[in-house]
Amino acid sequence: NKYEQGLAKTRTGFGARLNALLANFRHVDEDFFENLEEALIESDVGFEMAETLSDQLREEVKLQNAKNKQAVTNVIIEKMVDLYEQQGKDEHNEINFAPTGPTVILFVGVNGVGKTTTIGKMAAMYQQQGKKVLLAAADTFRAGAIQQLQVWGKRDHVPVVTGPEKGDPAAVVFDAVERAKQENYDILFVDTAGRLQNKVNLMNELAKMKRIISREIPDAPHEVLLVLDATTGQNALSQAKLFKESTDVTGIVLTKLDGTARGGIVLAIRNELHLPVKYVGLGEKVSDLQKFDASEFVYGLFK
Ligand code: GDP
Repeated sequence: NKYEQGLAKTRTGFGARLNALLANFRHVDEDFFENLEEALIESDVGFEMAETLSDQLREEVKLQNAKNKQAVTNVIIEKMVDLYEQQGKDEHNEINFAPTGPTVILFVGVNGVGKTTTIGKMAAMYQQQGKKVLLAAADTFRAGAIQQLQVWGKRDHVPVVTGPEKGDPAAVVFDAVERAKQENYDILFVDTAGRLQNKVNLMNELAKMKRIISREIPDAPHEVLLVLDATTGQNALSQAKLFKESTDVTGIVLTKLDGTARGGIVLAIRNELHLPVKYVGLGEKVSDLQKFDASEFVYGLFK
């Protein structure tokens, strides 16, 4: 299981809660479902999801006449995966690449969630796959953000388009898009500032960037990836709601999943935001950025 190490904490939290419940399992009764709901909520899956899941399990356990521990475990796994996948049946988990010309991906999210790191990792990954990658340091606001992206650029051997600190991020975006077109880059990753103090500002800033991008490349940006920090739990959800109201987010990157024992947040995000979790961050190394696969995640919990 590719999440083995990265989910060690979640296995000792979320996983252990479920396993403990099942270890003491005698028969399916109301107590069992109540304890299950509690374990789910404590693992950050959220109230709504915990209730839906427990209702569905109740029915399914009856339908399948599941009585022993293994049968009940199987139903739980099946329903968790189902619930995740059903929500996203019309979306795909892959990055949406432009059929021709540069693919532009905008990264949004508040400071400290791991935007820059994620871009660095993703740039390395696609570079290794033979793509020509360009980075744009449009987070001109946070001190050090430009340099941090440049460090990744050096490490990945990928150029970084920059502008002056506190300068207009839209100007950086414009330069980067021009260069991506002229020099035939396959992918342009744009790092943006995560200022959330004012929703109207955020909305305007993102709208301006998107306008500039789509004026140069009609279908772009091809993705707007919202980066969320798994260790912030329910806070990540409220941030996500704000960003979703501010711009058309196309997918989630959930970072620092290795740093929480309450990895149920992945399920809550899908259920409450109806957005696909495209990648998860399981550590600081490039190889720690992984495509998210619900069934591997859920199976991993019970190991
Ligand atoms: P930004 O402000 O959103 O650009 O955030 P940064 O990219 O600077 O990341 C903030 C911190 O989180 C850095 O110390 C990163 O190394 C760390 N970080 C990012 N992603 C992960 C992850 O998946 N796991 C862990 N453990 N740390 C991460």
